[in-house]
Amino acid sequence: MNSVIVLNADFTYLHTVNWQRGLRLVLKGKVEVLKYGRAVAASFQHLYRIPLVVRLITFVRRVYKGKVPLNKRNILARDEYTCQYCGAACRHNPTLDHILPKSRGGHFSWQNTVTSCKKCNQKKGNKTPSESGMSLRKKPVQPTISEFTAQKVKQMGLRDLLEDLV
Ligand SMILES: [Zn+2]
Repeated sequence: MNSVIVLNADFTYLHTVNWQRGLRLVLKGKVEVLKYGRAVAASFQHLYRIPLVVRLITFVRRVYKGKVPLNKRNILARDEYTCQYCGAACRHNPTLDHILPKSRGGHFSWQNTVTSCKKCNQKKGNKTPSESGMSLRKKPVQPTISEFTAQKVKQMGLRDLLEDLV
C-alpha cells in the first residue's frame, strides 16, 4: 500500500509515513486529509479510507534539517525509478548499483549509488562504468529537500493539487 505524504501546516513537505501511521494521525485529529487513496483498511469493524496526503493542523518544526535521509527508497525516488545506465523504467524490480563497486572500496552514498535495472547491473558486474563501456545518464548528486519534495509530488501525481493549494 502507498505511503502517506505529510505536509506541514504551511503546506510544505515534511515527510512520508506508512499508511497505518497516517491513518492514526487522522483518527487522532492531528491532520486534515487533502487527498485520499483508493485503498481501504478494515479494523474494529470499521472501514477506513487510506489517506494519500495529509496536512498537520498545528505547525511543527521540520523533521529533516535540510538533508534528505540516505536510503534505498530515497535513491530510487531521486532517480525516478529509472535505470541510470539504459534509461529503462524499473519500478517493479529496481536494484541499486555502486558506481565504484563495494568490493573495490566504493561506498553507499548519494554520489556513488544509482538505480539500475537488473540487466545493466549484471552487465556492469564488478567493473567501473568505463571498464564496462557503460555511462551514466546524469551525475548522481545529493538532492535538496525541495528538489526531493518536488520529485515525490510528481511521482505521486500531486503536483497540480499542490499548486492549487499553495
Ligand atoms: Zn538498465
